[in-house]
Amino acid sequence: MKKNQNNDNVPDSLEGKSLEELWELLLGKEELEKKKAKYEARKLMPDFREDAPNILECVMCGCDDVPNQTLVVSVNINGIVSVNVLGAKCSNPDCREEYYAAVSIELVRDIKGIIKRKSENDDK
Ligand SMILES: [Zn+2]
Repeated sequence: MKKNQNNDNVPDSLEGKSLEELWELLLGKEELEKKKAKYEARKLMPDFREDAPNILECVMCGCDDVPNQTLVVSVNINGIVSVNVLGAKCSNPDCREEYYAAVSIELVRDIKGIIKRKSENDDK
């Protein structure tokens, strides 16, 4: 990797930097371009969805085949055993790490809360 010659110009404060500028500081221009290219390629995959995790590379094993798919999350409240949420799963058979979109996790938490409150009210 080429050394970043602008190192002396790195400001003390990162305030006001755009996300892209931060990535460039972190990765260097070359790595950032590679990451962007990878993401553009990911967008062309048939399973790509704006609201899915769209994992570029499994953090557990480094496998770059992590397709978006529906995952089952257990709830176990009031007879409801599980719900299906949008996520992604590593295709490496030795890994199978699962990834959830942050919004899915919040949704499951909300559902659990609502069901719990509802069942408490029913008891009265
Ligand atoms: Zn993996």
